[in-house]
Amino acid sequence: MLDKVLIANRGEIALRILRACKELGIKTVAVHSKIDRDLLHVRLADESICIGPNPSAQSYLNVPAIISAAELTDSSAIHPGYGFLAENADFAEQVENSGFAFIGPKAETIRLMGDKVSAIEAMRDAGVPTVPGSNGPVPENADECMRIAKEIGYPIIVKAAAGGGGRGMRVVHNEASLLKSISVTQSEAGSYFGDSTVYMEKFLTNPRHVEVQVLADGQGNAVHLYDRDCSLQRRHQKVLEEAPAPHLDEASRQACLQACVDACIKIGYRGAGTFEFLYEDGRFYFIEMNTRVQVEHPVTEMVTGVDIVKEQLRIASGLTLSIKQEDVVIKGHAVEARINAEDPKTFMPSPGKVNYFHSPGGMGVRVDSHLYSGYSVPPTYDSMIGKIICHAEDRTVALKRLSVALDETFIDGIKTNIDLQKELATDPNFIAGGVNIHYLEKKLGL
Ligand code: ADP
Repeated sequence: MLDKVLIANRGEIALRILRACKELGIKTVAVHSKIDRDLLHVRLADESICIGPNPSAQSYLNVPAIISAAELTDSSAIHPGYGFLAENADFAEQVENSGFAFIGPKAETIRLMGDKVSAIEAMRDAGVPTVPGSNGPVPENADECMRIAKEIGYPIIVKAAAGGGGRGMRVVHNEASLLKSISVTQSEAGSYFGDSTVYMEKFLTNPRHVEVQVLADGQGNAVHLYDRDCSLQRRHQKVLEEAPAPHLDEASRQACLQACVDACIKIGYRGAGTFEFLYEDGRFYFIEMNTRVQVEHPVTEMVTGVDIVKEQLRIASGLTLSIKQEDVVIKGHAVEARINAEDPKTFMPSPGKVNYFHSPGGMGVRVDSHLYSGYSVPPTYDSMIGKIICHAEDRTVALKRLSVALDETFIDGIKTNIDLQKELATDPNFIAGGVNIHYLEKKLGL
């Protein structure tokens, strides 16, 4: 097992990783920016090092500072968490070249999946269902573009190969606006991502967001941990997630789960990963793969009993998976509400001092949060301050339990989205199950 892990992240995920390390008897190093010295995991880690000033670019994205910290502390591995450097192939490469284990896939896999055109191609080759599309970058020839778009059928969506965070996409409803949309998206992609490659896909009008969690050891073994539904989104940001995804067509679900496992083996995947799909009319359409642990991983952990972060640490230690597919059994249902420090009306971040925090509890209630009374939420980073996860024997009870837990949660000093989450947990359409990705924005009148 790894001896000492440097946690190159902050907030709730840093604490989550620290807990898994402690359970496995692995020593921990917390790295933090100046303003983050009072973070809970910094206090709980065996060692901590300040790696720079508050702006992420100078601290959590500062590769030389992170590698130096690993060297100084004699760490054996680096866990990138999510966000920041988690999907940066150059970082993964530098970590490994400096003699540390990178807790994630090989750099070449991150690179392959970071380019959506190559990711889709690899997945299609591996038998994963993809969205009908241009099967590669859009050609330079205008007639050829129009021919492909016509064949796909309008509406289509033009997307940046290097895109992320919901940027660099444009929906096209008819041939008249096709070429202009392609060139605008190309120049946007060039300026946002430094790569102007774009591709075309069929635009699905009312899909759900369904994703598949996988674990693979890079030694020929891979399992899926079933699915999650993350359709409740605002501006492509997930708000409330659940596992398993409700009301799926069982035959396409099983075929999709198997295809994900086969793809992991085919590409030699290593670590935890998520295949993201759009799901419409009983069919799955692959859109991208996340090569890291995700914010919503706890719902899967609650229903399968598999500790995803501990598995990541085992895999990075060179061990094989501790579970086989037949060991993975879904028990009940889990839901997760992301708690954000934000204005409930404008959604603007609401940083500041938390005068008092009361965490909910009781059977089946899990709180993953770095919050404590007296903690100041800095204005510098993401506004998510924690997650409330509720697990129960079925979906109805899990949602009821979430509603009770949210009622019990008390955060004084800053504004939060708790009221919105309460509304969602008791929303009749959401309770019925299977709302699409536009549901939340429509409900909010956006
Ligand atoms: P990003 O990496 O920027 O998050 P994704 O490819 O994951 O980009 O797409 C983000 C979101 O854009 C999806 O969750 C969905 O809401 C929308 N989207 C992307 N592709 C399509 C498509 N083919 N049809 C309909 N909506 C799409």
